[in-house]
Amino acid sequence: MSRRTRAGNNDIFDAPIPGDVLSALGKLGIEIVGEDSENWRIPCPAHLRRKGREDRNPSCYVHKDTGVFLCFSCAFKGPFVRLAEEIRGEGADDAAQWVSEQGVIDRAVRLLAGETYARKRETEEVTESHLALFTEPPAKALASKGITAEAARRFEILWDPKRKYWIFPVRDENGRLLGWQEKGKDHFLNYPEGMQKGDSLFGLQALEGEEGVLVESPVDTAVLWTAGIAGGLAPYGAILTPKQLRILGGRLSRLVDAHDNDHDGKRERRKVFDHFHGTGLIVRYFDYGDLAVKDPGEMTPEENRAAYKNAYHPMMRRLSTFGRR
Ligand SMILES: [Zn+2]
Repeated sequence: MSRRTRAGNNDIFDAPIPGDVLSALGKLGIEIVGEDSENWRIPCPAHLRRKGREDRNPSCYVHKDTGVFLCFSCAFKGPFVRLAEEIRGEGADDAAQWVSEQGVIDRAVRLLAGETYARKRETEEVTESHLALFTEPPAKALASKGITAEAARRFEILWDPKRKYWIFPVRDENGRLLGWQEKGKDHFLNYPEGMQKGDSLFGLQALEGEEGVLVESPVDTAVLWTAGIAGGLAPYGAILTPKQLRILGGRLSRLVDAHDNDHDGKRERRKVFDHFHGTGLIVRYFDYGDLAVKDPGEMTPEENRAAYKNAYHPMMRRLSTFGRR
């Protein structure tokens, strides 16, 4: 039997598409290990058969709307039906039948109503009870990041014991839970997709006083706390949204900017400085000095304390550098 026949009528445009690609993946027992804006990333189910070994570094992508998939490692690809066929192992007709039972009518109705899949996910409600699935991070994980259990509690950093992922709850300015970020080796996911994480900063609930320290990664708020430095705030990424800048301006009178010690970090630091220049908020730069490190997470508590203590006003630094030449 040739591949062509085996795939039957699973032409990319004719094959049935499940109404909800994500839930169909779940029913097939496929684990989601990551995502980008358009695709789910999964371990390739055909890898073992085609390459003789498990897919340990998943590079198979399934389009969120169309279900079309492609494994960049072994080139296994096709319409969703092909994926179902691989896993169910009952042939092309069975797979087509199974997929057509997965809410395809539901999908048509939704498309007619103009409601996109992304839209549906965005409105998904998350409640505090969702966090009950998670635990405090185990001692070994804490040690690997150089943070104490107390620091993790302070910033509500949690752990998914089943999948061994870090969990960073995302709360709005008023403390309402919007969702969380999952981070693991080769895994990163915002849940639910489309949550308004740009409306808040990680660490805001732990903030006391009017001084903040801006870091790029949520876990670095706890790294700083472990070094005895309070006020860590993380914008869930390098670039601050206008809303995040407004929150900083409203809450702080002093800000130490510890954006990453690289080209992009320097550029963002400059933007933050310019934004607040001439306002009541004094911005100083975290002093990485000559350390060949990317961020506070790569520094010892002593190095973090020194970089914080030596934080400088960028204009002063330029003047003093000039004077020394
Ligand atoms: Zn593969």
